Amino acid sequence: MPSNRVVILRNRVCPYCRIDLSPGNESTEHVVGRKFVPKGTLENQWNLILKACDNCNGNKADLEDDISAITMQPDVSGQHFGSHPQLAKDAAHKATKASSRHTGKAVGDSQPNLVVKGELAKGVSVTFNFTGQAVISPERAFDLAAYHFQAFFFYLTFNPGDGCGPELPGVYAEIQAVSKRDWGNDVARAFMARTRSWEPQLVFTTASGHFRLAIRKHPDKQMWSLATEWNENYRVMALCGEESDLREFMSGLPAMGGEVYRGADGSTLIARTEKQLATEDDDLFAP
Ligand SMILES: [Zn+2]
Repeated sequence: MPSNRVVILRNRVCPYCRIDLSPGNESTEHVVGRKFVPKGTLENQWNLILKACDNCNGNKADLEDDISAITMQPDVSGQHFGSHPQLAKDAAHKATKASSRHTGKAVGDSQPNLVVKGELAKGVSVTFNFTGQAVISPERAFDLAAYHFQAFFFYLTFNPGDGCGPELPGVYAEIQAVSKRDWGNDVARAFMARTRSWEPQLVFTTASGHFRLAIRKHPDKQMWSLATEWNENYRVMALCGEESDLREFMSGLPAMGGEVYRGADGSTLIARTEKQLATEDDDLFAP
């Protein structure tokens, strides 16, 4: 568990794309972005500051922009996921300032609408309208999480002599990107249960609880579990290591399940009830 101070790495290669850094192509990179979490929550708290190339820095900032805005938004009843007073303020500001890459509109205007039409009996039709929260594309969430995992892995075994750190070893496998309403789903629970006893390499909570990360290593195999949580609202779980070990791990995960509904026009809708996770059952980031 790192202490409450900032760590500054004097690195000479970009931790993300591995190019050599020089004053012409580098910029300072706060791995937990200062604007990614509610304003001020990183003050006097642990963070990792290093150098990255301008290109990677820009790509990461673009991912952080809408993902931060969306993860700060309240649920459909207006309830915020965290209780920090700055969270609601920043959420309101970002709802108009950040645009969803999914809809192209402001995050505050990006709630999805799902219309389901059906026939109850002959001649009696029904229409359901569902309104949800603005959606993060899982692809973007996995991309941003990969930046976080890569930077903290780089830090873990950084060599100050040559200014280098290792890449994430082996293959990166995406397990799940999921919002808080569904942290207790079968796959998330199985991932947590199966990696709980692995050796903690880096496990921390910072930004007054708005950023968490855990890297654990399998006791015998070259396989690491990677998990991060953003703004008390959203989690990404992944693995890296030997491909055959990853395949074996993933083949043991349960199926997500769900009920399949088929419309008269041939369309299908898979509905699954989200499962919440009780605080006492949650040890994904337990040290
Ligand atoms: Zn780079």
